[in-house]
Amino acid sequence: MPSVLQVPPEAQPSDHFSAVAATNAYLAQIPNDARTRSDAYFEGGYWLILWDFLYGAVIYILLLHLRWSAAMREVAERVTRFKPLQTAIYWSEFLVVTTILGFPLSVYEDYIRERKYGLGTQTFGPWLGDQFKSLLVGLVLGGIIVTLLFGVVRRLPRSWWIWGSLVATLFLAFTVLIAPVYIVPLFNKSTPLDDVRITGPILSMARANGVAADKVYEIDASRQTTRMSANVSGIGNTMRITLNDNLLRRGSLQEIQFVMGHEMGHYVLHHIPKDMIFFFVVIVAAFGFLRWSVEWSLARWSARWEIRGITDTAVLPLVFLLGSLFFFVLTPILNTHTRTTEGEADMYGLNASRQPDGAAQAAIHLGEYRKMNPTPVEEWFFFDHPSGRNRIYAAMRWKAENLKLFTPPPVR
Ligand SMILES: [Zn+2]
Repeated sequence: MPSVLQVPPEAQPSDHFSAVAATNAYLAQIPNDARTRSDAYFEGGYWLILWDFLYGAVIYILLLHLRWSAAMREVAERVTRFKPLQTAIYWSEFLVVTTILGFPLSVYEDYIRERKYGLGTQTFGPWLGDQFKSLLVGLVLGGIIVTLLFGVVRRLPRSWWIWGSLVATLFLAFTVLIAPVYIVPLFNKSTPLDDVRITGPILSMARANGVAADKVYEIDASRQTTRMSANVSGIGNTMRITLNDNLLRRGSLQEIQFVMGHEMGHYVLHHIPKDMIFFFVVIVAAFGFLRWSVEWSLARWSARWEIRGITDTAVLPLVFLLGSLFFFVLTPILNTHTRTTEGEADMYGLNASRQPDGAAQAAIHLGEYRKMNPTPVEEWFFFDHPSGRNRIYAAMRWKAENLKLFTPPPVR
C-alpha cells in the first residue's frame, strides 16, 4: 500500500466534480494484490467468528461432560470454606485451563495469521509475553467480577439478573476508567505527542470544538502491529485521545487531522458514556437469557455434570457456553451499533477537520486490514466501521458540497 497518497485528478476541485467518480478514482489507487490480500484477511475473519465460537463451545462442553468443572470446584472447596475465596480460586483454575485448551487457536489467530498477512510485528517470545500479561489481567479483573456476580446470585436467587447487570455495567465502566492508566501501559508505552507540526493544527481544532485537551498521546503500537489506528479511551479524568505511531509515521498531515477530528467526534458526541448505556441493555438481555437457559440446562443435566445449581461456581462453563451463543447470535446487532457511531464520528471528523482527502487516504490505509468494497449485507453483518468505499464516498460527497474550500481564489 502506498504510504503517501496523491489526490487523484477526479478528486481535484472542478466544475464537473462527481463524488462517485472521485470515490472510484481513490479506490483505483489500491494495487490489485494489496486488495486481494486484505479481502482474504478480512473474509477469513468472518469464519473466525464461527470457529472461535465453536472451539470455545467444545471446550466448555468438555469441562462439563468430563466433570472437570466439578473437580475444580472440589479443589477450591478443599482450600477454603470462605465462599468468595472459593469463587476466586475456581476462576483461576477455569481461566488457566481454558487458556491452555484455547492456546492452539490463539497462536493461529493472533500470531501466525497476523504475521502471514504482514500485520503482526512481534516474534514468538514477546508475543507469548503479552499473552501471559493478558492472562494475569484476566485473573485479577475476571476474579473480581466473577466473585461479585456469584455474591449477587447467592443473595438474590430470583432477581440476580437485574442487579447483576448493574454490577457488571459498573464494573465495565470501572475497567474503562482505569484502562488508560493501569492496563494499556502493561503492553505499550504512551507519551504526550510533542511534534508542533502535528499538535498545532490538532490542538487548534480541539479549541475550535470546545474540547479542553492540552495533550494528545502517541502510543508505540508498532511493537505489535503495522495497523494504523487511533482511539479515545477512559472516562472523565482519564479520558484521552491517542494516535498510534504507525499513523504518525505513514499518514499525511491531512490524514492525521481527519483521524483526530474523528476521535474528537467520539469525545464530543459522548460515545463512551452512550456505549455504557447500550451495553447495560445488552447485558440485561444476556443475563435474562442466562437466567432462563441455565435453569433449563441444569434441570436436564445437573446430575450428570455434578453441578448443585446456579449458585455453584462449577456452573461457569455452562454460563460461558450460553453467553458465547448469545453474543454470537448478536454479532450483526453489536457491529451495527458500533458502525453507526463510527459513521457519526466520520461526519464529525469531516466537519471539524475539513480534510475529505485526508479521510479518503485514511480509509485506504485502514483498507490494509479491512475489505474496501463489501456487499451491503456483508457490511451490515460483519463491519464495525463503515466500509472503505462508504467512508471515501461520504468524504467525497462532503467535498462536493464544499468545493470552494479547495479552490484557490483568483489572482487579482
Ligand atoms: Zn472511531
